Amino acid sequence: MARDAIYPGSFDPLTNGHLAIIQRGLKLFDRLVVAVANNPQKQPLFSAEERKQLIVEAVGKDPRVEVDSFDGLLVDYVRRKGIPTVLRGLRAVSDFEYEFQLANMNRKLLPTLESVFVMTGEDYFFVSAKLVREVAMFGGDVTGLVPPVVADRLRARFPRR
Ligand code: ADP
Repeated sequence: MARDAIYPGSFDPLTNGHLAIIQRGLKLFDRLVVAVANNPQKQPLFSAEERKQLIVEAVGKDPRVEVDSFDGLLVDYVRRKGIPTVLRGLRAVSDFEYEFQLANMNRKLLPTLESVFVMTGEDYFFVSAKLVREVAMFGGDVTGLVPPVVADRLRARFPRR
């Protein structure tokens, strides 16, 4: 039986930290659905459609990876997809508390849901989409922190002064 998992997140934008989790997730699972959360309460830098497109371009044509987006609760999306396993990444201790709360809340809402955590290596533990956005906005160089397609898009959006 194929083992599938959903890797949900904001991916605003996709970073090399996210890519590392996708690559490591593919060692554990046969197929991954990278699911962009479309949260209307957040003011994203890139639309859900743009975030999806950047993931598709960065991951390339890998039949094991589907890129999708969802509105509303993750557990409802998990139910619709029929994939009760969620992959998440852990950076530092600071991620732990939030991820622990989220995993338990999700399991409360959907008892069959299981969350699986993968830790990044030292290369990307300091990389977050939020920091990447801030560095790019002020014209800083994000090369090496995000895939080249994302770096290009950020440069187009925030030209160096
Ligand atoms: P961010 O926290 O960077 O804004 P998301 O909300 O899109 O990113 O996060 C989706 C998932 O990816 C979360 O589980 C988050 O902990 C994980 N993640 C994000 N960046 C990294 C990284 N550099 N290393 C490991 N996991 C990461």
